[in-house]
Amino acid sequence: MARKQLLKAINRVSILNVIKSHGPIARTDIAERTGLSPATVTGLTAELIEDGLVQIKQEGDSRGGRRPILLALDSRGAYVVGIKLAEEHATLALTDLNAEVVTRRTVQLGERDPEHVSHLLADSVRGLLRAAGINQGHLLGVGVGLAGIIDPQTGLCRVSPHNGWRDVPFAKLLEDELGCIVYLDNNVNTLTRIEQLYGVGQHVRDFLVITIGRGIGMGIVANGQVYRGAHGGGGEFGHMVIDPDGLVCGCGNQGCLETFVAEPWLLHRARERGLDVAEADDLIAAAQAGNAVALEVLAGAGRVLGQAMASVVNLLNPRLIIISGEGVRAGDFMFAPMREAAYRHMFAQLAEDVEIRIEPLSDDTWARGAASLVLGKLFSLPELEPSLG
Ligand SMILES: [Zn+2]
Repeated sequence: MARKQLLKAINRVSILNVIKSHGPIARTDIAERTGLSPATVTGLTAELIEDGLVQIKQEGDSRGGRRPILLALDSRGAYVVGIKLAEEHATLALTDLNAEVVTRRTVQLGERDPEHVSHLLADSVRGLLRAAGINQGHLLGVGVGLAGIIDPQTGLCRVSPHNGWRDVPFAKLLEDELGCIVYLDNNVNTLTRIEQLYGVGQHVRDFLVITIGRGIGMGIVANGQVYRGAHGGGGEFGHMVIDPDGLVCGCGNQGCLETFVAEPWLLHRARERGLDVAEADDLIAAAQAGNAVALEVLAGAGRVLGQAMASVVNLLNPRLIIISGEGVRAGDFMFAPMREAAYRHMFAQLAEDVEIRIEPLSDDTWARGAASLVLGKLFSLPELEPSLG
């Protein structure tokens, strides 16, 4: 990108971020916060208004003199679709620019041929737009999150265990079907992005998102950027080795963190000790009823998780850890022992820096996270990571 264009893109994004974070806001205040000249702010805000991203909200207080015109994000000026590809089904959510869900649907995936899946999803996206009465011209793009190793730069799905895909250019397939931009990322990174853009991770430069459910995942934000590693495979917290002689994990190694904390393994451990449980809710109900095996299985998982977290805190010194995912239902049965173990094993100084928050996950969160892949591009620069305005 030519230097002049790049400067313009930087200025436009920094103005948009100030309007998102501080709107309704007067142009003079935008100039002050961004350090840009009033003429630059006037020119670029006119463009943003024309693009439908910013609207004139209201007039400010009058204390004599001219009333300033205030600008705000036009959250319904454009839309995005977020898709979470799960094992059996996909959840789609149409959201506005604030990542608020306008409408949603779930589709069963059936066969996993990539062409079939992209065709099915494209049909569903069009159906969603029709149901909401939104013209496809107002769709900024589509974000897709799925488990596996993803290269978000190229939209290549390197490995997707659920789908049996290897090196599938899935973003390109769906783009060809839909004729709009499609971004692809690991689903834990999509949750991390929504926390960073709209959630408790806003304005936090260093934080972790740990997801607990059928597997254990980790999103890492370091110095304001999602850390992905050399080829998008970073953050495999679930496969940190806890016991080299332990149970054989799905990845083929022994004694990974998942074999202590992930739901299928909790059930396995409870059954081994004679407790008849079919699913995680049964285990939680047994703990609520005071069953000693259920209580010990959940507490034991919490202690191991806390120890592993302490190692990561000592390594990365995050300011905030967000624990999310379906597994947060276990509540204090797991997370009280987890906190205790985590803080006990952290370096004292680092423990003072870090806050641990448990965030319940709604059905929409994963799909909103996928939508934030597109929204994130709107509020950040090409090839650069988001401004933390
Ligand atoms: Zn493993």
